[in-house]
Order: sequence, then C-alpha cells, then structure tokens
Amino acid sequence: MATNDDCIFCKIANHVIESNYVYEDELVCAFRDMSPLAPTHVLVVPKDHYESFADDVPAEVTAALFHAAREVAKAEGLIESGFRVVTNAGPDAGQAVSHLHLHVLGGRRLTDDFA
Ligand code: 5GP
Ligand code: ZN
Repeated sequence: MATNDDCIFCKIANHVIESNYVYEDELVCAFRDMSPLAPTHVLVVPKDHYESFADDVPAEVTAALFHAAREVAKAEGLIESGFRVVTNAGPDAGQAVSHLHLHVLGGRRLTDDFA
C-alpha cells in the first residue's frame, strides 16, 4: 500500500503539506477540518491511501483509525459531553475527498443530520 501523489490527505498525513495536527501514530494521524461544523471537528486519516471505508482496509488500520478517534475525543475533552464519529463513503454519502477519513465531531449538541 502506498500514497497517491495527487491526494491532498496523503500529503497532509505524511507531512508533505503541514496541517493542524492533534494526534499521530505509526498508521494514522488526525488534524482539524479546514471548515469545521462543530467546535471540535477533526479528521482521522490513514497514512496509506485508501479511497474510502468501502475499500479493502486492513483490520489493523481500521483499528488504528477508531483508536485515534477516541484519543482525539479524550484530548478534546469530549468523553463526558459526547461526540460523533462519521465516515462518508461514495457519492450518496457526499464524500468529497477520496482518501478514507473519519470525522470526529463534538462540543455542541449534534443534530440527526450529518453533523
Ligand atoms: P467528506 O465530505 O469527504 O466526508 O469530507 C471532507 C472534509 O475534508 C470536509 O469537511 C472538508 O472541510 C475537509 N477538507 C477538505 N480539504 C481539506 C484540507 O486541505 N485541509 C483540511 N484540514 N480539511 C480539508
Ligand atoms: Zn490519499
């Protein structure tokens, strides 16, 4: 598995372009969404390129993504108040960036819609 030269999240995840990081480990990293929909809106992405959650993502990468989402929630102080983890896959979900990412949202009362 590798990165995609044309992919913005590959560049951010591998520090080719720097971003506002809040968590990082060997397999994944997390950074703040550039258009936040909530007081906390963080994206968790694998360092390798996968199109979406519908891709054949190795179990260890899936685990690392969810582990990171919880670490972000802890670091952002969201464990008591609550938070949401969302991933969009494909056109009907409105996926805009074709590199697998989890949205971690919190810090306000979230509606039943996407955020
Ligand atoms: P999607 O609709 O694909 O699930 O969500 C893509 C998200 O990525 C959007 O919330 C959008 O604001 C965010 N985003 C797109 N490009 C960038 C970028 O270059 N930097 C950051 N930090 N967020 C981005
Ligand atoms: Zn990518």
